[in-house]
Amino acid sequence: MAARILDGKACSLEVQGELARAVAERRSAGLRAPGLAVILVGDNPASSIYVRKKRQTCERIGYLSSGYDLPVDVPQQELLALIDMLNADPTVDGILVQLPLPDHIDAQAVINAIDPDKDVDGFHPISMGRLALKLPGLRPCTPHGVMTLLRRAKISLSGLHAVIIGQSNIVGRPMALELLNARCTVSICHSRTRDLPAMVRQADLVVAAVGKPRFVHADWIKPGAIVIDVGINRLDDGKLCGDVDFAPVSERASWITPVPGGVGPMTVATLLENTLQAAEQRDSASR
Ligand code: NAD
Repeated sequence: MAARILDGKACSLEVQGELARAVAERRSAGLRAPGLAVILVGDNPASSIYVRKKRQTCERIGYLSSGYDLPVDVPQQELLALIDMLNADPTVDGILVQLPLPDHIDAQAVINAIDPDKDVDGFHPISMGRLALKLPGLRPCTPHGVMTLLRRAKISLSGLHAVIIGQSNIVGRPMALELLNARCTVSICHSRTRDLPAMVRQADLVVAAVGKPRFVHADWIKPGAIVIDVGINRLDDGKLCGDVDFAPVSERASWITPVPGGVGPMTVATLLENTLQAAEQRDSASR
């Protein structure tokens, strides 16, 4: 059996088209374009590429994008002061601070400083709390993008056993909450999990978010399982690959996300969805 591809690139373009139309409608109704402020500290090459992609996509679909590139040794107080200014700026709906931050900066203090209603990355404790309590709010982009991809492929999740490999704040934990909210039975595995292959063999849906190339082997996959590969790993030859051993796993799975072109583009699409959602919420709060 060859798995069907969950095409994140195509799905992301579909979402972006819908967002561009929503922005055009807002403008013709006399409302402002959604505004996203993106802060980059230092010149980490991967972060610079991600930030450039986010800013370009914003501009292409008609958002107002403002960029703040700060030197690697920027004092934490200066970064916090910039966030205060953006929190107060009525033209800014979303604030994104590209992670990771340099060691002298307390990343959690920076995340905590963002107004939760402008927290388009969804990493603020209030955003995570809202997700945990099934309250409306801005959702962490990567896990929410996975949910959008599954929903648009009309994959029914209720009752499935989902096994997530990875327990980070930005992927594993919010992914578990999203899948729980979708009525899956959820297991979260991590580096101390005993007999990981046996855990994964039970899964109807596997999410790999480990950061190790081709870590998930085909003989761990239950025939017909859905496989979501969040990992992005750069190999010595410069090519990207995921955490899943794609070719043999796709012989067993029913659905699979490729890397690149799977979860990555959905993360960007969700950031833009969150920014529009934040703009709409702020409009209705000011009415
Ligand atoms: P992380 O390093 O914070 O977390 C990795 C997790 O893997 C940890 O919870 C750890 O316990 C677990 N782990 C490590 N070794 C393990 C082992 N041998 N067995 C079981 N579990 C193990 O990473 P992260 O930020 O969650 O990112 C994970 C991957 O996803 C990375 O490749 C990252 O680049 C990628 N990522 C992709 C996107 C996207 O948009 N596609 C977004 C965020 C992260």
